[in-house]
Amino acid sequence: MSLRINKPLVSLVVPFYNEEPAIDAFFTTIVPVLESIATVRFEIVCINDGSSDGTLDKLVRASGRDARIRVIDLTRNFGKEAALTAGLDEALGDAVIPIDADLQDPPGLIPVMIEHWFDGAEVVAAKRSSRACDTMMKRVSAGLYYRVHNALSEVKLPENVGDFRLMDRAVVNALRSLPERQRFMKGLFAWVGFKTVLVEYEREARCAGHSKFSGWRLWNFALEGITSFSTVPLRSWTYIGLAIALLAFCYGGFIISRTVLFGNPVSGYASLLSVMLFLGGIELIGVGVVGEYVGRIYHETKERPVYLVRRRYQARKKVTALPLGRATSRALHAPHVGRADHSRRQLVQRMRVAAR
Ligand code: UDP
Ligand code: MG
Repeated sequence: MSLRINKPLVSLVVPFYNEEPAIDAFFTTIVPVLESIATVRFEIVCINDGSSDGTLDKLVRASGRDARIRVIDLTRNFGKEAALTAGLDEALGDAVIPIDADLQDPPGLIPVMIEHWFDGAEVVAAKRSSRACDTMMKRVSAGLYYRVHNALSEVKLPENVGDFRLMDRAVVNALRSLPERQRFMKGLFAWVGFKTVLVEYEREARCAGHSKFSGWRLWNFALEGITSFSTVPLRSWTYIGLAIALLAFCYGGFIISRTVLFGNPVSGYASLLSVMLFLGGIELIGVGVVGEYVGRIYHETKERPVYLVRRRYQARKKVTALPLGRATSRALHAPHVGRADHSRRQLVQRMRVAAR
């Protein structure tokens, strides 16, 4: 019995948004895989991200049957990034694995990830070896996006690596200590660093239902990624403004010279146009510079919580909701980033005992 208690706990964090058709297949596939890993205990933290179908009912029923399944019901659809953030806040595990509900992230990879974790990796990230199941359009746009993002940002995103990964508690605590509200998780995962191992997999098609990311949503997601991690687009206006001012200056010189040399029937036209163009360029420089600062201040000052929790469910018991989602949850479970090494040593000892 004591051996069982000493086993490390692995939390699966699963965001669900209108996934009713996929839920049964998800649990019947994932639970046996997790039960087959003798060296760890597990919990499944399900985040219901404001689903409007029967997702919540199905999740609550699953959690009623199995105490290892917990359900966190958000007050509305906050988006996958917020749902993942909620999951990381709620997860209690020594390692946390975000995984999609549609079985596109193969559960068979979890034992491999845990092996690497036992061997000392702090992050085990899953990399898609092929995007065969994606449309041509998605493959091309994804490739282009990684190139643009990595050219503009100092935080480089590893290509074809999604949210499916195992993270040690130290990594999760580091992520939770980041106060920003605009949470582009792929970027944050890359930003925190840590010792990372990549494992490759073939991405399958969705087991049921349809993708929640339309072309338009992906476009906005891409823009959010770039603006979260780069100020180059903002700064570029400064240079655009400079270029226009320079051009206007040259053009002004040309018009003035032409007027002096050859005269101009419309009096005042030359000086008016050159001043207008010159000031227009200067104004763009000003907007670019101010915009850079306003953009930063805007994101920092809103201080809204990333998500709100309506209710938590575990087994048949209803657990009292905390009223302020991330803000409250952060206050209650303040992360302990500095203690990572110490707890890791203890964990490795526990894993060795459990493995015997
Ligand atoms: N998801 C979510 N909130 C959203 C959109 C998606 O929690 O607003 C979840 C969804 O239920 C799934 C995961 O995020 O578990 C990935 O979504 P999807 O499969 O639609 O994305 P794709 O694989 O097409 O990129
Ligand atoms: Mg999917």
